[in-house]
Amino acid sequence: MRSPASDAGQPQGMARPADLPALDRVLALDGAEALLQAYGRSQVVAALRRELDTLRAEAVAGTLGHTRAEPASILHAVTGALRQAAEPRLRAVFNLTGTVLHTNLGRALLPDEAVNAVVRALTTPANLEFDLATGARGDRDDLVEDLLCELTGAEAATVVNNNAAAVLLMLNALADRREVVVSRGELVEIGGAFRIPDIMKRAGARLVEVGTTNRTHAADYDNAIGARTAMLMKVHCSNYAVTGFTKSVSVAEVAAMAHARGLPATVDLGSGTLIDLTQYGLPREDTVRETIAAGADLVTFSGDKLLGGPQAGLLVGRADLIRKIKKNPLKRALRVGKLTLAALEPVLTLYRAPEHLAERLTTLRLLTRPQRLIQETAERVRASVQLAAGPGFGVEIAAMFSQIGSGALPVDQLPSAGLAIRHLGPGRPGRHLERLQAQLRGLPRPVIGRVESDALWLDLRCLEARDETAFLAQLAEPLA
Ligand SMILES: *Cc1c(COP(=O)(O)O)cnc(C)c1O
Repeated sequence: MRSPASDAGQPQGMARPADLPALDRVLALDGAEALLQAYGRSQVVAALRRELDTLRAEAVAGTLGHTRAEPASILHAVTGALRQAAEPRLRAVFNLTGTVLHTNLGRALLPDEAVNAVVRALTTPANLEFDLATGARGDRDDLVEDLLCELTGAEAATVVNNNAAAVLLMLNALADRREVVVSRGELVEIGGAFRIPDIMKRAGARLVEVGTTNRTHAADYDNAIGARTAMLMKVHCSNYAVTGFTKSVSVAEVAAMAHARGLPATVDLGSGTLIDLTQYGLPREDTVRETIAAGADLVTFSGDKLLGGPQAGLLVGRADLIRKIKKNPLKRALRVGKLTLAALEPVLTLYRAPEHLAERLTTLRLLTRPQRLIQETAERVRASVQLAAGPGFGVEIAAMFSQIGSGALPVDQLPSAGLAIRHLGPGRPGRHLERLQAQLRGLPRPVIGRVESDALWLDLRCLEARDETAFLAQLAEPLA
């Protein structure tokens, strides 16, 4: 019962703090049981307390209407809050940026074989470090070492968390407190704070730069070798190209010079492809096997770039050097987990059947997808995107270029197709395009494109048939 006296000072028609129900009354409602089942009592009670605190503050301020103070309404609000808090933070998106190996969107997508192996490794015990032949303790690298050697021609191999870790480990194991000779043209920075000079310092090695930014000669390396030299190192210019008046020294030449002085030659290959990409009409890139054959004693490369596997850093090369690397304490700190190894093995196995690779290895399938098929996808989805964008925008099918991404072959581009969305009408289009972009990011499965030259470009290379229905379903009505 509300007495007129206690309403003193309360604005007309507003709820007082005393009107709010007790926590137990809300929990006694019919709908509460399902909530307790789904989220557990402690979480529900905490959310309910937060909601009641908020409402109490509003009631004190005289801004709380009676409807929101109703138990059913409070339960409804708490349900919404709990549901929102339970949304996964890591969400599936549509990568329509045109960059196939997009570092910020998780790089390589893995084939089903790898997915199944990961699920198995997650849910059952496995011989991660257990020798099934002898029953003795095993070495996790053994799971993939033979495959890596078979595919690269190397004597030995080991695996760590990513290629940055591989480079750090290699430098620390082989060049601690000694000098590493690198060309100035190869002192790269890879996105996300990986710089060769910094890694060198952290590894305890001293960088000796030779040559100039655009030209390095064989003699430059040779002259830099001294008593404290640990190795000659080459680094793949992953995300840039030095063009014009340039000269670099080949792996074969660097290796020959290193070997003449009894030193190892190492190569950070970055992407590190295992196959000749030109057979698929892709630009040329030295393979890991070619680099080993040219004389490199140790090669490092990523698992989730052109290789198309999980995040990993692969080190392949001379058995004595790999042995030394595996004894380094950093190896333990940088080692991979079973999920990585579970995913890596089937991906490497796919390379044994190169005839099927372009179909079965997701990354290669996306990179080699014919422009004609991408164009057909564009024709199928254009009308839906137009409907979703609304009459304020024009949506046209357009030819465009995709990029491989992750620093692989930065200059070369792949003929692709997709949609170009332009704002119609007067005024500067930037703000309108940004708003449309934000709406697309707000979809249940966010759509990520790129704005360039006054248009929002949706490159459809990575929208494969199996995702098309899901893509269209969320564009069935105008976004605004
Ligand atoms: C990408 C890249 C790295 C870093 O590899 P991650 O696997 O991302 O750690 C290092 N060196 C080069 C040349 C690269 O291209």
